[in-house]
Amino acid sequence: MLQSLLKLVIVLAVFAAMVALGYRLRMALLPPAEEQTGSDIQVICLKCGQVEMARVSDINATFCSKCGNPVAEAWRCRDCGKAFPFVQRIPKDRATGRRGLQDWAEMHRCPFCKSLKTEPVPLKEEAPPPPAKKPDAVPSASAN
Ligand SMILES: [Zn+2]
Ligand SMILES: [Zn+2]
Repeated sequence: MLQSLLKLVIVLAVFAAMVALGYRLRMALLPPAEEQTGSDIQVICLKCGQVEMARVSDINATFCSKCGNPVAEAWRCRDCGKAFPFVQRIPKDRATGRRGLQDWAEMHRCPFCKSLKTEPVPLKEEAPPPPAKKPDAVPSASAN
């Protein structure tokens, strides 16, 4: 009785070890999982200012297709329309309260016009609204 229990424990232990080993082997053999391949975002070159779409998993390992220099996430200002690199500055001593708000503002502020109305450059530039169709000049009833 005790022996069969011991056997069961050993079988379980071996099974667990095999699962763990298999998992490790799989991690070593398989190409990076999907979540590691990154996502498409608009980036801006820190050197030449080129804005382009890139598949980014690590922004620090992403480079401009034009000049090969580092890029940052591209943000744009809704007030002046200019694109700028969004560089996340993490304060040394994580600020809170009013100071944290200042850091946040500094991070998001447009470097050109200091506006805070900034946003990530969208992947697809939304098409400009189609020109309003002018209704054909209908002889109006007021032509009397
Ligand atoms: Zn560049
Ligand atoms: Zn601006």
